[in-house]
Amino acid sequence: MSHSERKDERAKLLIVDDSKQNIELLMELFRDDYKIAVAKSGQRALKIALSEVPPDIILTDILMPEMDGYELCRNLKENSATKDIPLIFVTAISEEMDASRGFALGAVDYITKPFNPLMVKARVKLHLDLKRKQELLEKYAFIDALTEIPNRRRFDEVIAREWNRALRAGYSISLMIIDIDHFKLYNDTYGHGKGDNCLRMVAATLAEVMRRSSDFVARYGGEEFVVILPDSDLPKALETAKNIQDKIDALAIAHESSLVADHVTFSIGASTIIPEEGKYPRELIEAADSKLYEAKSSGRHCICS
Ligand code: GH3
Ligand code: MG
Ligand code: MG
Repeated sequence: MSHSERKDERAKLLIVDDSKQNIELLMELFRDDYKIAVAKSGQRALKIALSEVPPDIILTDILMPEMDGYELCRNLKENSATKDIPLIFVTAISEEMDASRGFALGAVDYITKPFNPLMVKARVKLHLDLKRKQELLEKYAFIDALTEIPNRRRFDEVIAREWNRALRAGYSISLMIIDIDHFKLYNDTYGHGKGDNCLRMVAATLAEVMRRSSDFVARYGGEEFVVILPDSDLPKALETAKNIQDKIDALAIAHESSLVADHVTFSIGASTIIPEEGKYPRELIEAADSKLYEAKSSGRHCICS
């Protein structure tokens, strides 16, 4: 790895202070370990925080003309794009200081000047580590461990969000539930390990189809998957369902004990709704589920809507 590549992996620290002397002091302390950005005002700091490469952590002075540190903190916390950036207040002990106010605004820490350099470094590192761990936890909480596609918890979030968006915009939303045919027989024939591999392959194929659209796929449970198609009417949903059927048929994963084909197949239930006040996503899911049941009872390896 070249030196410049290593440099780019370093965390980005934003220093906000109106005093050149304070900036230099902090830069001296951190320049070897972090990529550093500097803002001499709260407004400038906000711009940087909202830019393409936002900082991983912010150290800010409190007393600054126009937008002070508290105001900066409030602005950052109000915006979903910046609210999770840890912010530490750095201020002289002699200055008017109200730690409880800073914490109430969402700051993670408070450092008073004159400071002990080792302690300041340790605290910045601590908050960066905590943030990284938090991000990892959040990431894995919404990913299915076996297939590595979004899980049911993530689906619940996305359906609520898409439902509200469709409600506001007045457009329809479609949903399909996809269930592998005779998967119990697959496990019985090839073993649970091969069954797991099959689920991984199927999930990867679905994810690949979804990558090229704004549609969303999740593992709904065992051998069931769910797809949300925002702003889609039924014909459009059926087109996607047909596409998915074709893709899984083309994969031709051998399933010798299946009662409907010589390979792994899907049954799909699809439904469309125009969200209105007083209706809930539950209705859409239940409609797709009952269509899936219909597909199962009318011979499997088919789409019902
Ligand atoms: P149908 O065509 O009616 O859907 O029949 P089916 O056998 O697919 O449905 P059923 O609900 O009877 O069985 C689902 C099977 O899926 C049983 C279960 O062991 C298997 N399964 C669920 N989750 C996993 C998993 O994570 N790994 C493996 N290998 N199998 C799983
Ligand atoms: Mg099944
Ligand atoms: Mg099932």
